[in-house]
Amino acid sequence: MLPSFADRIPPWPLHDEADEAVLLETLRSHRWWRGNGARGDAFGAEFADYLGIAHVRLVANGTLALELALTALGIGAGDEVIVPACTFIATASAVLRIGAIPVLVDVEADTLNIDVGAVEAATGPRTRCIIPVHMAGQAAEMPALLALAQRHGLVVLEDAAHAHGARAFGAMLGTLGDASIFSFQSGKLMTAGEGGAVATNRPDVAAQTFALHSCGRPQGDTAYQHLMPATNMRMSEFQSALLSGQLRRLNGQLATREAAAPVFETALRSAGLSPLVTRAHIERHSRYMVMAWFDPAEFGGRDASALSAELRGAGIPAYRGFPPVHRTGMFTGPEAARLLHGRGAPDYARLDTPVAEAAGSRVIWFHHALLLGDEQLLHDVAAAVASLRTPREMVRGTDFELARSA
Ligand SMILES: *Cc1c(COP(=O)(O)O)cnc(C)c1O
Repeated sequence: MLPSFADRIPPWPLHDEADEAVLLETLRSHRWWRGNGARGDAFGAEFADYLGIAHVRLVANGTLALELALTALGIGAGDEVIVPACTFIATASAVLRIGAIPVLVDVEADTLNIDVGAVEAATGPRTRCIIPVHMAGQAAEMPALLALAQRHGLVVLEDAAHAHGARAFGAMLGTLGDASIFSFQSGKLMTAGEGGAVATNRPDVAAQTFALHSCGRPQGDTAYQHLMPATNMRMSEFQSALLSGQLRRLNGQLATREAAAPVFETALRSAGLSPLVTRAHIERHSRYMVMAWFDPAEFGGRDASALSAELRGAGIPAYRGFPPVHRTGMFTGPEAARLLHGRGAPDYARLDTPVAEAAGSRVIWFHHALLLGDEQLLHDVAAAVASLRTPREMVRGTDFELARSA
């Protein structure tokens, strides 16, 4: 029986009195909508400034941000988009939803970032785009991916849903590709419960995003012009109001997590887990998740679902690794087959991505809120993990007893 951590986990998301004041102000202003409020413009400019990027388009969530960015980049029906097999489903589902074909490739074992060699191998005449995910907040191999993209005439869309404030290669993540997306969903490093953004330095892409995120209407339209097939993805003023406060606190939280993560990883290593490595060129890891491999045989035969469920039962925010996206019902069910029928989609059932496959059952991850707690909490969580380990000492002791009695 594990001790209870229920009262010891730092809360997430966080807010302060300034957030309460700005929400109340927004409420009383009667301007709750992007169309007549100024909070969206203000936060969009603050976030663009923070990233050092020319354009930010705010939307209702990160999944829609992916759909918007892909469409604005000119990706559509029948185009192939290369996506890592180990990611949250949105990276692949957004591709499907715009009628394009997700081509899922394997990831590197030590970072769970997209494998550049696998991207190269999957690139073909119909490939138009690569979506690297900066897994857990660690930069994917952007220079190699950008070079590959240039050789083949592809665009690169960074999925920076985990990477607010992360840096590598002399830049903020989300500013290296043709465009990027961020998520402000409840668990993310900046959040308004829901929310998302597309960021880009390309004026042509930025211009496309306006009408595409707002029912096909050009900026300032009052004449019901609907220039193109499009949906409504707009963010509300309440979301923007909260996100300005989230951004103000981001750098301080990044510093706290950056200091705590190595301590936690060392403790987890002693507990029998193998945390992902942080590459030497990473300038700032955003530490969205602490992910670690483990051997089920060393934990009583528990797979990632069982091990994480046991930890959650004690109040520790631990979760299984992402299942490979093409093993979910989205790809194995009849709907995807019908959707992709006649488009020459890969045979998803036969797609071989052994690292992503293993990660689904042998990786667990811990919520970043833990890294905002005190050091003792990190050691105690690691001790709880260690207590679930197959007791080798006992096995050895038994051998010893047997040897002595023989
Ligand atoms: C969270 C997330 C998204 C976007 O998710 P929303 O919940 O729609 O904001 C996209 N990609 C990855 C990798 C994510 O983790």
